[in-house]
Amino acid sequence: MSAVTRFAPSPTGYLHLGHAYSALFAARVARPGGDFLLRIEDIDRGRCRPEFEDAILEDLAWLGLSWAQPVRRQSDHFDDYKNALGELSDAALTYPCFCTRKDIELEIEAAGGAPHGPDGPVYPGTCRHLSKPEREERISSGEAHAVRLDMEKAVTRTGPLTWTDAAAGDITGRPERFGDVVLARKDTPTSYHLSVTLDDHIQGITLVTRGTDLFEATDVHRLLQELLKLNVPTYHHHPLLTGDDGKRFAKRDKSLTIRELRARGHSPDDVIKMMDGFVND
Ligand code: GLU
Repeated sequence: MSAVTRFAPSPTGYLHLGHAYSALFAARVARPGGDFLLRIEDIDRGRCRPEFEDAILEDLAWLGLSWAQPVRRQSDHFDDYKNALGELSDAALTYPCFCTRKDIELEIEAAGGAPHGPDGPVYPGTCRHLSKPEREERISSGEAHAVRLDMEKAVTRTGPLTWTDAAAGDITGRPERFGDVVLARKDTPTSYHLSVTLDDHIQGITLVTRGTDLFEATDVHRLLQELLKLNVPTYHHHPLLTGDDGKRFAKRDKSLTIRELRARGHSPDDVIKMMDGFVND
């Protein structure tokens, strides 16, 4: 069956082998008959750079990949995320969170620890208990705040949810392990979870492909789909590329950027063979 897939890099550095493999994977499963799309995930305005965006597109083309237009750039669509956030807030499923990282650490310490979720210690819920007048007063005094999902209310609203992974089969979501996830950060009016879920819907993605490092995050995305009445794609979380030491490649491995491999005289075919050889099935 043909699929609409996407590759969604964040332009915070040059494309490296691990990410290029993810792009290749998405392009391969889309064809024949489907569409392969690109999305630039640049909500983190402090870390993303236009020159990295250009370099990523150029390296993908050098590898022989082509994609359907338009390329969606998240920073052009903050209104879409704002509207979705408004819907969740109107449904009383969100609350403002004024905590700093330090406040959260201290609160967890005082409580003698916090359950560990897939993204680290779960937020202890400090701001969930603030009164409405206190929230309003702190917001109107200009205090910076994030917006969090009230996870317990959200899962009570939807009931149990499942999603399907082409490799792992049918999965029962357990988004509550994440606690009250952030939907809009203090420094940018959205978050990874919110923007990725909404964009996959808006771009008409039918098969979301990405590394297994994001497998658990899909539980949160499935929950948001249900709350916002979005399409539910199928997923295929692919294995991550690892070196001989079994450690996954990351942006810090400068020698494994496509730029560097190009400069060393490798051909696109060499690089594609290299990626296929590093897949840790
Ligand atoms: N932007 C994310 C990354 O670069 C990928 C998000 C996704 O594929 O869902 O890791």
